[in-house]
Amino acid sequence: MRKASRGFILLAVFLLAQQLGFAQLHKFRPGINLFTPEQDIELGKEAAGEIGKQVEIVNNKELTDYVASIGKRLAAQPQAGQYPYSFQVVNDPSINAFALPGGPTFVHTGLILAVDNEAQLAGVLAHEIVHVALRHGTNQASKANLIQLPALLASSTLGSGSMLAQLGQLGIGIGANSVLLKFSRTAETQADLLGAQIAAQAGYNPIEMARFFEKLEKEGGARGPQFFSDHPNPGNRMQAITDEIRYIPQKTYDFNTGQLARMKAIAQKLPPPKKAVAQAAPVTPMSIPDSRPSKRLQQYSGNGFRLSYPENWKPITGRDEAGVMIAPAAGVLQSQSGVNVGYGIVLDYYRPDNSNAGLREATEEFVSRLKSAHPGMRTAAGLRDTRVGGKKAVVTTLYSESIFQGQTEVDRLLTVSHPNGILYVVFVSPQSEAQYANKVFDRIIRSMRFSF
Ligand code: ZN
Repeated sequence: MRKASRGFILLAVFLLAQQLGFAQLHKFRPGINLFTPEQDIELGKEAAGEIGKQVEIVNNKELTDYVASIGKRLAAQPQAGQYPYSFQVVNDPSINAFALPGGPTFVHTGLILAVDNEAQLAGVLAHEIVHVALRHGTNQASKANLIQLPALLASSTLGSGSMLAQLGQLGIGIGANSVLLKFSRTAETQADLLGAQIAAQAGYNPIEMARFFEKLEKEGGARGPQFFSDHPNPGNRMQAITDEIRYIPQKTYDFNTGQLARMKAIAQKLPPPKKAVAQAAPVTPMSIPDSRPSKRLQQYSGNGFRLSYPENWKPITGRDEAGVMIAPAAGVLQSQSGVNVGYGIVLDYYRPDNSNAGLREATEEFVSRLKSAHPGMRTAAGLRDTRVGGKKAVVTTLYSESIFQGQTEVDRLLTVSHPNGILYVVFVSPQSEAQYANKVFDRIIRSMRFSF
């Protein structure tokens, strides 16, 4: 008797879970993101321009219109969000598709030739659309650059057309293994499951997405891995998609343009791609010669100060637009902890704990902060009084380990009294460059003016 009642309860629970099935359809929210959706769109636009130079975009209206019509149908589903999606075909035999932040989506001819039916192509496109809608690329870029990205994104110098270049200084690009294009397994799960929902709503059988991935995985080797290197299998991919489909309201998946066979014929007849395929720009390697400051200087106006800086270096300002880092791409090292400047200038304000501290006292406190943040940093001599831009200033030199291997780093520190504390400037160079760099740094110091 006991056994029977137990069995009944379990069955009841099981049925209840089934009835609640629709409510269990996955909903995903975008993760942490320091970019605005508008910045996603701007970044995607710039990156698409770069991609256009690196790959061979197919210039066949019929084929492009075909892919775009499927893409637009999917992008019209509510989960796709309000992004200006665009769809282009890339003449490339490898099986791949990718989407940039904000909506530009690219489909390789190899993918079109590899799918067994239109629903499979739609499934892959829906998967890409989710990466855009949930902003996976900029989410990953945000997570990897939590410290320095807010400053860069709030930068007033971030005008249109310069975003990719600025992000390049943080090592964020569209190159191989770019955080913008190579997704985490969590992102992949979301793209699979939400993509299945989108495909289904658009009238495509979502199981075909799973079937296509399964097929690619089975074929493996020669043609499969390309897609999977950017879209890694989160594990149990097919099972997870199949499970999700059980919660999608049942309907007849009867949408099909009937054009796929003809489109395959067009793709087949295209001449082989002329350009080398997708050799994306590498992250700028650290290089002392490439970092060396130009003797030609240009003006920078910041919050409360002006100075000249070498024209081959780039300013990146802070969210509060107070501080600025001015450095060459080859003189910084991107790491988990942030951007480490090996050759360049860092300028910002510092508010001492003791608000009544004088310039020297505030500077000493700042130096001890620096030392605790940089183990191994040492001072050579004490503080020296001077004047800069008509104001009382203090200078000293610190030494630490350079990002350039085997080198000692020279950090010339300059501080100026400010009503709320001090303005500090650190002039950074590897020791082998100090003699050359100091001449340029001296000119920069002489160019400094303050308005506080
Ligand atoms: Zn993916």
